[in-house]
Order: sequence, then C-alpha cells, then structure tokens
Amino acid sequence: MKLWFDELYTENTKFSIKVDEHIYTERTPFQRIDFFKSYDYGMFFTLDGYMMVNEKDEFIYHDMITHVPMAVNPDIKRVLVIGGGDGGTVRELTRYETIESIDLVEIDERVVRLCQKYLPITSSKLEDERVKMHFEDGIRFISDKENVYDLIIVDSTDPIGPGEGLFTLDFYKNCHKALSENGILINQHESPYYERDAKEMKRAHKKLREIFEICKVYQYHMPTYASGHWLFGFASKSLDPIKDHKKDQWEALGLKTKYYNSNIHKGAFALPTYVIEMLNEK
Ligand code: SAM
Repeated sequence: MKLWFDELYTENTKFSIKVDEHIYTERTPFQRIDFFKSYDYGMFFTLDGYMMVNEKDEFIYHDMITHVPMAVNPDIKRVLVIGGGDGGTVRELTRYETIESIDLVEIDERVVRLCQKYLPITSSKLEDERVKMHFEDGIRFISDKENVYDLIIVDSTDPIGPGEGLFTLDFYKNCHKALSENGILINQHESPYYERDAKEMKRAHKKLREIFEICKVYQYHMPTYASGHWLFGFASKSLDPIKDHKKDQWEALGLKTKYYNSNIHKGAFALPTYVIEMLNEK
C-alpha cells in the first residue's frame, strides 16, 4: 500500500511526500498533531495538516531564525521564544554561552512532549538549565512585560487557529514594550508567492512598520513550505541588520552552521522586486 502526505498550497496545487508510516495522531484543545516517518524527509510532524518540522530541512529554518539576530547583537542575554514547541530554535540559541535565559512560551504542551518523544533532533536542548518552559498563550504572556528581553522570536504557525493573535497590532505593540533598548523582534513572516500567504505577509509588515523604528524582511529557502520561498521579519528599536552586522565578532565564535553564514546574512535582505513592491504597498 502506498501512503502519501498531501498539503494543498492552493485549490489547484499540492505538495506530496511518500510516507513510510503514520506514527501518531492526536487532537488537542488547540490543533491536530500528526507524526509521520518518510523516505526523503525522515520524521516530520504536521499541525492541522500543515508541515511544521522535518528532519531534512529544519536546519535552514532554525539557522535563519536564530543566527541573524545573534550576529547583529552578540550581547543578547535574555530571550523569549513564542511558539517553537519543537525546540529547534531553542537548540540553536543554547549554542551561545552568553545567553543567560530563554523563556519558551508554547500554547500546546503536547507539541513539546511529542517532539521530545519523536523528534530529538530539534527537542534535544529543551532540558538546558537556562530554558524555562511556559505552557500558555504567548499573547497573554507578553501583555504585562516591560523592558525584559533583548530578543523575541515568534516561531509561530500561520495566522489561523491559535497563531492568529500573534500577527496582530496589539501583539506587536506588546513585543515592542517587552524589548530592551537594543531589542530585536524576529517573526515568522509568511511567503510572498501564493496569494493567501502573500496577503498575510503584507498585513504583518504594515503593522510592524507602524510600531518599530527599524523594520526589515529577509528571505530563506525552505523546500517543504509552500513555494519554498519564505520570509522572517527583523524589527528593532535601534539596530539595523546590515549596518550593525557584527560579522567578525560572530565568526570569532566559531559556530558551525549548515545554512547560515555571513554572506547569506547580507544577501538574505536583498529581496526580489515583486516582494519589495508588495511590502511597500500602502
Ligand atoms: N516552524 C514552524 C512553521 O512555521 O511551520 C512553526 C514551528 S512551531 C511548531 C509553531 C508553534 O506555535 C506550535 O507548536 C503552536 O502550538 C504554537 N503556537 C501557536 N499559537 C500560539 C500562541 N498563541 N502562543 C504560544 N504558542 C503558539
């Protein structure tokens, strides 16, 4: 019997992965979680039918969400990760000895527990003593925080279901308030390619631009997300990702990375014309 995981990118376009085994399924109060073992992508898990993390390309996403801000401000000490229950972002953050604390706020504890069971490749550092896990809504968690984080990473699902509030103006305002003077916000910024994702990309950028002094977008190549062309937002009170890039200081750390490097850092902020035009739309 042949088993395929299908993800619809539009009504008329889909992506398929041949599956060896459907390992696990569960419906939590927040979403449906599935784990699959596949031939080409190793173990992967989906939330409500959307690919989240797989063993083959997770390094691209986690390199780019973490090392870009860390190479702009290597003095980052206090970090908040919202979402990210698979642990991949935390894994990369724990490689920096200078980071003192990492708060991980994941709404769905089951995502964490199941990734600890089935995806050690990403969840292996959740036990680091600097990591504190909070199983609650990131929107509520951040609402009373002021000047406490040097870096906030919103490692969220798309703006549907529990992730919806992580793309609102109020949430971004609260992130601004929770950040220190040199604070940086990195957020999952959707994709410019298919219409539904592009709409969310534009909406997110418009809101962030209203609040943050510096507001940029950078790209990375993610084979298993719709179209493969995905973006993160870089918003900050004072630091510019290119002018303030501490290339030499970051390289001196000697961290071995598979996707990120100093040229990628610079190049990722050079966007295609159609993307710039969409982001600049009023
Ligand atoms: N790399 C993934 C992607 O973009 O496809 C996202 C990684 S991660 C698995 C996303 C996590 O965000 C999920 O585990 C989900 O439970 C969590 N999440 C969604 N909404 C949230 C909220 N309001 N507060 C905290 N966590 C949330």
